Amino acid sequence: MNGLRYTTFILIIAIMLTHNNSSFSADTQKNYKSIVQSIIDKALSDSVAYQRLEYMCDTYGPRLSGSDNLNKALMWIKGEMQKDGFANVKAEEVYVPHWVRGNEWCKLVSPREAKMPMLGLGGSIATPKDGITAPVLVVHSYEELEKKANEAKGKIVVFNKDWLGYGDAVQFRTHGAEKAAKVGAVASLIRSCSPIGMQNPHTGMMVYSDTIPKIPHAAITHEDALLLERLEARGQNPVVHLYMEAQTLPDVISYNVMGEIRGTEKPDEIVVLGGHSDSWDVGTGADDDGGGCIATWHALKLLKELGIKPKRTIRAVMFVNEENGVKGGKAYADKHKDEKHHLMFEFDSGVFTPEVIGFSGNDTLMEKVKGFEKYLQMVDSINVTKGGWGVDISPLARLDNIPVMSLGTNDEGKYFWYHHSPADTPDKIDRVVLNKCIAAIAIAVYLYSELD
Ligand SMILES: [Zn+2]
Repeated sequence: MNGLRYTTFILIIAIMLTHNNSSFSADTQKNYKSIVQSIIDKALSDSVAYQRLEYMCDTYGPRLSGSDNLNKALMWIKGEMQKDGFANVKAEEVYVPHWVRGNEWCKLVSPREAKMPMLGLGGSIATPKDGITAPVLVVHSYEELEKKANEAKGKIVVFNKDWLGYGDAVQFRTHGAEKAAKVGAVASLIRSCSPIGMQNPHTGMMVYSDTIPKIPHAAITHEDALLLERLEARGQNPVVHLYMEAQTLPDVISYNVMGEIRGTEKPDEIVVLGGHSDSWDVGTGADDDGGGCIATWHALKLLKELGIKPKRTIRAVMFVNEENGVKGGKAYADKHKDEKHHLMFEFDSGVFTPEVIGFSGNDTLMEKVKGFEKYLQMVDSINVTKGGWGVDISPLARLDNIPVMSLGTNDEGKYFWYHHSPADTPDKIDRVVLNKCIAAIAIAVYLYSELD
């Protein structure tokens, strides 16, 4: 190959390499800019998504796994997805745990009588039929409980640790009953997992171990946990009465509901986006995770309504039972593991200003997804960072080593104000913010489905 031809050859290679390195070719980039703008314009002018979120929360209420509310809501979603014209709309059966709360209350009986707002924690057993009345022992850590083990026998242990974030607080919710029972406590209470009080209790999942006796486990409010601590510190020997009817019934059938847009060039390659359809049995699961379901579902609806025909199939999946078992995510993995999944996307961080698209995949893909930033920033100041996550998408993503993506929002610390509490209701969600989340999700999954 002579000198001139050799130089031209190198030049062509160089151009091709640079061409391949960017997510998309120059022409495609121009083209995507206008597609992205049309996605944003349509999303921001929409009100159907917000109305459906309100309707679902108001009409079906809390959607705890095993409840009729949930299955009714799922059949409604299936019907609406069919109306939206999605392909292959279906409800796949999943056996889910069926924990029920029943009646419950908690009250201070000494040094004075006072009702204490409370919520039994998901999975907890009931108290004896007359309830449990016992003095309390307030601790701030498992270490302190160990140190005071000889004082705990026959008492109600109260875990009252200051909020250092969800990850830190949730340890007492999950394992507090085991730790307290191990030292002879008759029941255990936790300060609700939230940065604020407002006499608002927060529920959530707890677990038992097979080797330690089971005791009832519930959450009280910040205000009352601090009150019990002050009474104890003054030597006023606070006594509490706890009554719970909670029980775990046999598993029942529920559903993963899904619908899709079939891909044009690579229909057998699947991009999944979703949230979890279940919630706890208080509030109406607006932020956790009604908003995530509605946003991912309507991102797909948006692409459909704009007549966008993605290269790959994009499938919206409303995963069931995230809160207490992840049976929906596991069932989806089991049933769909033989399909070629290109991406698993989840939105379960509350509907607040979209801020981050988190991605987990190899470096080449990471670089390509980084290229989405300029389009995402047409919606809001959204960055692409390392680290996608999602409880429901994890079983299959891990099994088949599939890249994971998620939308993170800037909640200004408010997500856990409402999380798993009677306050998680649609009035906490802003329509424009929801629509921005929908636009960001539609852009991210569409661009990803187009990647070479
Ligand atoms: Zn959630």
